[in-house]
Amino acid sequence: MGKSSEPARHAPYNKGLDSTATCAARSALQNASRIAVLTGAGISAESGIPTFRGPGGIWRTYRAENLATPEAFARNPKFVWEWYDYRRSVIATVGPNAGHRALAAFEQRGGDFTLITQNVDGLHDRAGSRNVLKVHGDIWSLRCTICGREREEKSARLTELPPHCRCGGLERPGVVWFGEALPSSVWELAQRAARHIDVLLVVGTSAVVHPVAGLAHLAKSHGAMVVEVNLAETPVTSVADYSLRGSAAEVLPELFA
Ligand SMILES: [Zn+2]
Repeated sequence: MGKSSEPARHAPYNKGLDSTATCAARSALQNASRIAVLTGAGISAESGIPTFRGPGGIWRTYRAENLATPEAFARNPKFVWEWYDYRRSVIATVGPNAGHRALAAFEQRGGDFTLITQNVDGLHDRAGSRNVLKVHGDIWSLRCTICGREREEKSARLTELPPHCRCGGLERPGVVWFGEALPSSVWELAQRAARHIDVLLVVGTSAVVHPVAGLAHLAKSHGAMVVEVNLAETPVTSVADYSLRGSAAEVLPELFA
């Protein structure tokens, strides 16, 4: 990316205050005919979900990088499943927040709207979002390692660890592990959206995880306005037209008001 001649219009976000940047971003969203939103761990953290990059509880001596890999699963599927079972039980205790609900409500108004998430926790579904492109998969989905059949299993605790498919094959979590490619059909749809939108809203993600990081650049290079909502400056800030400093639960209801 070349350096933009126009500096990004950063503005601090003050709750209850209609900052100029918030107003401008809101009016851009109102006038846009095609909108995509990319969400990341930040919006889930506001619901109380830990990032799991440094596992919590009994798992705190382990690194996610040593559990969320095909190699770890091949070595000890039961052990890896115990970690996922723990994560599922933690996620089940929290709910979607005002940020998730604002996105679901906006989708229900109709129009060309694409929600892309890096989160596997299913909180967008629970908030009522219908079409969610889950580029890192879904922790509530189980996939057979033999026949490839996927099924949804929403019990907070699985009765059988590791779980098995009806064909007898071992099932794995339906998420993307370190070193694995993104699900190609979902990723293709996310990229297509990024090339054909008027506004991309990047929420609660530093988007440093490749290749998702490329979406903001892709959208920008195809003429979209990029609006960032994050508590801190991120690598997206440099390509964002507007960077709104605040939490998703505070900012999104105001942006989609
Ligand atoms: Zn199977």
